[in-house]
Amino acid sequence: MLVLTAPHGEDPRDGGHVDTHPGELLYRPFTCTAGEQGDCPCGSRWEGLSSRRTSTLAEVATRTDLTPDTYAELLATFFTGVHGWTRDDADAEARALAAIAADWEPGDLLYVRGECIGKGEPQ
Ligand SMILES: [Zn+2]
Repeated sequence: MLVLTAPHGEDPRDGGHVDTHPGELLYRPFTCTAGEQGDCPCGSRWEGLSSRRTSTLAEVATRTDLTPDTYAELLATFFTGVHGWTRDDADAEARALAAIAADWEPGDLLYVRGECIGKGEPQ
């Protein structure tokens, strides 16, 4: 299945950074209200499940070792264990992240700005 992973390269854009471990699974960390609108840098970051470090790019990758069920289980364990979410909220976020990846092609590099996710330079 397609998932969002930490890129192997750098983010060459101004203000871009990749502090995650290459290939680890990414999720969207909590953002402040301004970040949700794309007006704070925290709204432009992905975070690694393992490293808990952030990246301004996510790479879409095919993971043959994961199925939608095992992926959801992995993320649910993280969200309920680390963030104290309910299982329903964790499942919803796992589905949302899988849906984002499913919209793109392997190798695509995605930025996030608030609720907006896309490839290439943010508009
Ligand atoms: Zn913020």
